[in-house]
Amino acid sequence: MNDTVAHPAPQASANCTSDEYRTLYRRSIEEPDSFWLEQAQRLDWFTAPGKAGEWSYDPVDIAWYADGTLNLCHNAVDRHAASQPDATAFIFEPDDPDAPGRTLSYRELQAETVRMANALKALGVTKGDRVTIYMPMIVEGAVAMLACARIGAVHSVIFGGFSPESIAGRLKDCDSRFVVTADGGTRGAKPIPFKANVDAALAMDGVEVDGVLLVRHTGDDVPVVDGRDRWLHNLASDDDCPCEDMAAEDPLFILYTSGSTGKPKGVLHTTGGYGVWAAMTFQYTFDYQPGEVFWCSADIGWVTGHSYVTYGPLLNGGTSVIFEGVPNYPDHGRFWDVIDRHEVSLFYTAPTAIRALMREGDHHVTSRDLSSLRVLGTVGEPINPEAWRWYHEVVGSGRCPIVDTWWQTETGGHMITTLPYAHDMKPGSAGRPFFGVRPLLVDNEGESLEGAVSGNLCIEASWPGQARTVYGDHDRFIEAYFSTFPGRYFTGDGCRRDEDGYYWITGRVDDVINVSGHRMGTAEVESALVLHPKVAEAAVVGYPHDIKGQGIYCYVTLMEGVEPSNELYTDLRQQVRKEIGPVATPDHLHFTAGLPKTRSGKIMRRILRKIAENDYGSLGDTSTLADPSLVDALIEGRQNR
Ligand code: ATP
Ligand code: MG
Repeated sequence: MNDTVAHPAPQASANCTSDEYRTLYRRSIEEPDSFWLEQAQRLDWFTAPGKAGEWSYDPVDIAWYADGTLNLCHNAVDRHAASQPDATAFIFEPDDPDAPGRTLSYRELQAETVRMANALKALGVTKGDRVTIYMPMIVEGAVAMLACARIGAVHSVIFGGFSPESIAGRLKDCDSRFVVTADGGTRGAKPIPFKANVDAALAMDGVEVDGVLLVRHTGDDVPVVDGRDRWLHNLASDDDCPCEDMAAEDPLFILYTSGSTGKPKGVLHTTGGYGVWAAMTFQYTFDYQPGEVFWCSADIGWVTGHSYVTYGPLLNGGTSVIFEGVPNYPDHGRFWDVIDRHEVSLFYTAPTAIRALMREGDHHVTSRDLSSLRVLGTVGEPINPEAWRWYHEVVGSGRCPIVDTWWQTETGGHMITTLPYAHDMKPGSAGRPFFGVRPLLVDNEGESLEGAVSGNLCIEASWPGQARTVYGDHDRFIEAYFSTFPGRYFTGDGCRRDEDGYYWITGRVDDVINVSGHRMGTAEVESALVLHPKVAEAAVVGYPHDIKGQGIYCYVTLMEGVEPSNELYTDLRQQVRKEIGPVATPDHLHFTAGLPKTRSGKIMRRILRKIAENDYGSLGDTSTLADPSLVDALIEGRQNR
């Protein structure tokens, strides 16, 4: 499964060739100060920084560009509104393909941001206040983020799929006194009661806010609480609203992680370093060229939406698509319709979406004109080589480089990825470190491992986009990332480095299986299963086994229209044996209609592990589960074995 796909011939205009990567990467490691001060020039500073990174991992204290001042809204909006006022900043594609869409030029975006910023001020928001944004995927969601940045408020965006309990928990956690929301929204023609969810959250114990800013979207009739709720259109004004002078280390946002491994953490990012990182990774990773349309299908409630729907594209003066809907409405070709309609050049999505769409057949793709596509990206989970190839060959017609970007909420932006036209690609491998990133693989004792080897993935030195703390809980920050291997940032992921220096994420280290003394990543076994033409998705966990220590338990979903059978059961076990070896032969295959996923679309293996262990009492924090009812079905399936 480790074969290589050569990168397409370098384009004359490409942002980076393989030689340039080598030279620049070496400089970023050997002369970090001058390198990062140079990169800081991507942004307009009110006071240019004289220093780059000043950080320590023991004790944990991280700062970048600390003596510089700037405003990220100025950088994302105002400077482009001045230099290219008519260029398109956002293209809005509504849930209903027949409803009117919208495009916003940088001039219009500036006007809307000023109006929203003035409304926030009128609501009582001041510099440093935490503002919770709970919005559909509409332009106003991104505008609310930018308006916060403009006035120095700290945004905390909550994905629109979350429940009132989750909203309440996040409001309390960061003591946020303000909420921006909409009357309602729709996803896949299904109404989502945004305002009602906020009202329910605000009715909960211990939750209290000073103001709610309401955006009219669906026109639904919603109750308005006197003295607390204000409509944006009543509060907004076009008055002058200058961009606040922010220190580089002033907080920009708090964002809660997906909750794949436990209770979500409120990760804090600051202004200057994050801005440089978002701007730089966007430009290099996607080989962004001025004028191109970029579409990241993630919700702004995830870090991917922060860095690659809002900040990355706008900091580069680019055009970003905001899509309100879902991949399967009105049919499974919706993504491809959007690309066709808006002539998207650069497309970025998650393996979960790719696998789901692949399952529905190629005709949805081949019936659309995708010739505008130039670079394809993926993020969120390891992508199985099988899904990678489908993305490459069917969606990208074999012409588009694929970037498999490994990163985390905590890293602010891309950390490991190949670069288009600069690097060969290996399906299933994220590739090489981004500039300034020093990956390190260590064994369980913390000894660093050299050469082609598997280990715990750590990062040795700080980078500008690194999270500074967990909001209000620096001890948890230290405990989660810096205590397992003191002096290093520990990612929580397992990883293999091959002989070419490519990195292969094998899954969370907690998910590593040890069968008869052989350690293996869940990703490998899953990829071997997904290779079978009848398998859509697989999730693999270990469970206690008398003889082997751990046995291999595989949850498998099948392609549309395929039924489980004894023959398929035998076939799949054979297939894994053949691909990886007899030691990886599954002990149990559990056919299921679906897999439990976080609301960001990641498989929640910790729950699957409990079910495989027949331990249903303590499933842990399940608040970020997309479809809790699946769990009961899985437990039933387990008990019937
Ligand atoms: P929590 O931290 O609450 O458990 P989470 O780790 O899922 O949730 P995110 O920050 O959204 O929250 O996800 C980061 C993780 O996603 C990474 O640590 C890694 O496990 C996985 N990941 C992201 N991109 C990739 C990729 N390209 N290849 C493999 N894994 C990836
Ligand atoms: Mg994580």
